[in-house]
Amino acid sequence: MLPPLSPRPDDAPRVALVGAGPGDPELLTLAALRALEAADVVLHDRLVPAAILALAPRARLVAVGKEGFGPAMPQAGINRLLVNHARSGAQVVRLKGGDPAIFGRLEDEAAALEAAGIAFRVIPGITAASAAAAALGRGLTQRGRNAGLRIVTGHDMRGFADQDWRGLAAPGAVAAIYMGKRAARFLQGRLLMHGAAPATPVTLVENASLPGQRILPATLADLPKAAADTTGPVLLLLGIAPRGAAALLPDTLSDLLEAHP
Ligand code: SAH
Repeated sequence: MLPPLSPRPDDAPRVALVGAGPGDPELLTLAALRALEAADVVLHDRLVPAAILALAPRARLVAVGKEGFGPAMPQAGINRLLVNHARSGAQVVRLKGGDPAIFGRLEDEAAALEAAGIAFRVIPGITAASAAAAALGRGLTQRGRNAGLRIVTGHDMRGFADQDWRGLAAPGAVAAIYMGKRAARFLQGRLLMHGAAPATPVTLVENASLPGQRILPATLADLPKAAADTTGPVLLLLGIAPRGAAALLPDTLSDLLEAHP
């Protein structure tokens, strides 16, 4: 159980590292909502939509963190802000897209708070891979198809990320690839080089859970082309194709119905 937010004993955590989920406010946890309602300061990633920030009516909102390959507030600066606000007595929420434990630098910030002697708690969120799988009506694992799931990033602080390419290229491997859009050509090259079939399905889910959600079915062969066709955040599902049923693709279905009423 998470400690209650109110009433708050003096030694209760002043800082909550909170997952905002993939974007749809409906996909926040109740704990995240309560933390936002009680917050004096919200330090948020730029990807967190306004509709979620609006759930912290009392809070001063401060945009920190990075945007794709773009400019970033250095992590040390974010850590300092967190510590300083907490020391001032404020209830601080550090709000991150998805789950803070997945490509969210959770432990950097936890370590900084620990070093400053500041208690914190972590409120997990729904990660982009879960929202993307939900959009497809697919499991991230499925008996008889894939007994495991790899969670990988296309790039890290040093550039394109190195991975266990042989494992990822193996037949039947399934991976949720974060930050893979700009790395699409690199990913394609590494996977083909390690023996993956060009026809391996890769499904791109853009803006998962958000109004602009799009599902782009592709294969390894045309992955870079599909990635170039997107503008929002994209989660790549390697080894998973959309279901055949049009019923799960509302746009396609309504197009069909319009064409053949
Ligand atoms: N902590 C986050 C991931 C942060 S890394 C989480 O658990 O989801 C940022 C990457 O997450 C983006 O480059 C993209 O690959 C993915 N992402 C985040 N939100 C997304 C969304 N709504 N739709 C698709 N991908 C998303």
